[in-house]
Amino acid sequence: MITSTTNPQPADFADVRATNLAVVLRFVREHAPCSRADIAASTGLNKATVSSLVADLIDRRLVRETGLTENRVGRPATMLVLDGSPYAAIGIEVNVDYVTAVAVDLAGERLLSWRRSFSGPLPGADGSTGQAVAAVAAIVRRVVGRMAKQERQVLGLTVGVPGLVGTDGTVLIAPNLGWRDADLAGDLAKALRDPGFAVQVENDANLAALAEHRFGSQAGTANLVYLTGEIGVGAGIILDGRIRRGGRGYGGEIGHIQLDPLGAACRCGRTGCLEAVAGIGAVLRHVPLSPAEVEIELDEVVRLARAGDVRTLGLLAEVGRQLGKGVAVVANLLNPEVVILGGYYVPLAPWLLPAVEEEARGRTIAPEGGGCRVVASTLGYDAAALGGAARVLDSVDSGRLPRIS
Ligand SMILES: [Zn+2]
Repeated sequence: MITSTTNPQPADFADVRATNLAVVLRFVREHAPCSRADIAASTGLNKATVSSLVADLIDRRLVRETGLTENRVGRPATMLVLDGSPYAAIGIEVNVDYVTAVAVDLAGERLLSWRRSFSGPLPGADGSTGQAVAAVAAIVRRVVGRMAKQERQVLGLTVGVPGLVGTDGTVLIAPNLGWRDADLAGDLAKALRDPGFAVQVENDANLAALAEHRFGSQAGTANLVYLTGEIGVGAGIILDGRIRRGGRGYGGEIGHIQLDPLGAACRCGRTGCLEAVAGIGAVLRHVPLSPAEVEIELDEVVRLARAGDVRTLGLLAEVGRQLGKGVAVVANLLNPEVVILGGYYVPLAPWLLPAVEEEARGRTIAPEGGGCRVVASTLGYDAAALGGAARVLDSVDSGRLPRIS
């Protein structure tokens, strides 16, 4: 369901207009409040064109006027801001025993944030997706219902999955969900009975990276890598301001870079993979059965670390060093400006980060780690779901505008 925009196409009038509408919309998003003259001066579009484009965006209720400026030289100008009050973008994260849903308006303001835990594994986590699709569809219908009550039109839905997601939205393999070759986007659209908005599926790390890029403490950083700190570890890679998925969409599997040939067994069947020696499983004393159990164990680890427990501090330093080796691979290969640690790494960051940074700097050939900083995410556990909503806003910003209703 992810459509490529790289196909060369003749730029007919409608394309040019859609592109220019998107240019103006993005300018207002970044510079609001701003005037039509500001837009013309910065984009190079002539004033008449800008007026026409702005009128179109106002008709679509993507932009609205907000009075006159008072303290400007020359004639007072009518200022423009994003509107988007009639719209919502939805992101969902599906994981082993929870589903998270987030909705935001066009400006990115949070409209709702839900997390539904399942007492056992997600229905259908035995390998068939049918029950899982029905469970996710039920949640989506509730979110859409809530948005309808607020008289909002849903712009689109992106579902994040921990696994390999092809560029066509097919889930090739999601080991923790037990899924293989699942047409999740298609099945979900069917279950929602042609909902009238696009349903897309994306890798969860990619979505979390998009959320950081749009909403996080490092928002706008053009070269950014997000590492999920779940039982598995995946990377979402943004280079030159764009998410990078690779040829078939399977890039970013940093969790299965082998750091230690003699290291612990990985769930993938290999040994010494990054997620086996530096994932959250390496920190915990027991193999956790659910996120609730992980959180209880993590709280205990944090408590012991705060109390200065020598064994705990030693363990966190070792996990930090292993993670630092992985960050060094990323730094040497991609030279990101920042690597963001997410998920369960966040509460452990005060103890992990010094070891991660020292190890990564020592292993990066460029001085100072190539300028790469390592920070903890500030977006919390719903980063991937938020990124799903961000992906919908990205497609609006790139010109896929809602029709005038
Ligand atoms: Zn592995």
